[in-house]
Amino acid sequence: MGYPRKPHARETVLLSKHFGDADARTYKGWVKRGGYEMLAQALTMEPARIIDSVKESGLRGRGGAGFPTGLKWSFMPKEKKKPHYLCVNADESEPGTFKDREIMRWTPHALLEGAAIAAHAIQAEVVYIYIRGEFTEPWAVMEKALAEATAAGVFGAIKLHLHRGAGAYICGEETALMNSIEGKRGNPRIKPPFPAAAGVFGMPTTINNVETLAAVPLILKKGAAWYKGLSLASPKSTGTKLFSVCGHVQNPGNYEVTMGFPLKDLLYDLCGGMPPGRTLKACIPGGSSVPILNREETESCLLDYEGVVEKGSMLGSGGVIVFDDSTDMVYQIMRLARFYAHESCAQCTQCREGTAWTTKILERILSGQGKTADLDLLLDLAENMTGKTICVLSDSCAAPVVSGIKKFKKEFEDYVAGRRKPVMVA
Ligand code: SF4
Repeated sequence: MGYPRKPHARETVLLSKHFGDADARTYKGWVKRGGYEMLAQALTMEPARIIDSVKESGLRGRGGAGFPTGLKWSFMPKEKKKPHYLCVNADESEPGTFKDREIMRWTPHALLEGAAIAAHAIQAEVVYIYIRGEFTEPWAVMEKALAEATAAGVFGAIKLHLHRGAGAYICGEETALMNSIEGKRGNPRIKPPFPAAAGVFGMPTTINNVETLAAVPLILKKGAAWYKGLSLASPKSTGTKLFSVCGHVQNPGNYEVTMGFPLKDLLYDLCGGMPPGRTLKACIPGGSSVPILNREETESCLLDYEGVVEKGSMLGSGGVIVFDDSTDMVYQIMRLARFYAHESCAQCTQCREGTAWTTKILERILSGQGKTADLDLLLDLAENMTGKTICVLSDSCAAPVVSGIKKFKKEFEDYVAGRRKPVMVA
């Protein structure tokens, strides 16, 4: 769904309030809407006070991990012996997720302001905003916005730079992103050392997601208690979240709701439900790398960090992929596995071999050549791919396979037993 669009009555539009409003993209337009007031105030504040306020708000990382933002900032060394850096993860490579690009397209100054406030809080003098290579329009909008705000002198001594990625999924992983900024191949690094100790160029670094940083000016403006109060279920999940909904719904798009909003209401009420004559079969609630939910789990799930975990999956990046009853789950899972096999950086054996073998076995099942033992083989492979590698790409490939076999086993068995027509996989 394009912009502008009228928000649904049940949305809480904070970050998406100005989506579709071209005037808000400009520096003057943003200032007219109260923009950069909080940065001016923050630059006069003690960094520790800003960190405390963000801690108090309960803001957690919106990129996928959900780590408390204020706590992450507090890991940076208090005594500044080396340069500090802030990296903004604007790579948004997770399939099913398309909200950060809209923040950059429509409210670039919200991101720039939030990034500059964060930089002051962690005492970083340089900010790198790492933007996915394919994001041509967001890149152009960000470039213009940064030039305008820099010319206006709002950032003080903080220097912000845009860095363009080249489109590798793995560069959305924070340590691969730092390698890429350094001009190296975007391979994830072994942790520790963690970025706060040795990040980009070996210096203390914090990496935050676009949506996370865009929320920071609002928290300073309206107060941590106000932000904390935006919570419908778990007190550990606060604020609003942008959910990118795609797949089999009548009105796909980005929707901003308060944490704890029912997933069922998002799909049936805000997104208009399934196409006519179809029913819900399954849903991936947090981007392609998290376990699949079946219909019952989807319809009883609350959208916050705790609610989705309770149903056996993760909130992740908030990319909600919906499947109706026409979906061939074996085929969909093969497509996901193939994606991860293609995007593996190949450093770890379990990932390099595991993603490739998982794809080949799934292709074999789909082509009618599968064996009963293949299901156990896939589960065995998945176990060896989980929790044993440098980064979680390997786990991300295994998660849909394990949950898919568990919840839709009959579909796999039907292919193996010849009860389903084989699919030609190119
Ligand atoms: Fe690379 Fe995969 Fe290992 Fe991650 S898990 S470092 S993508 S090989």
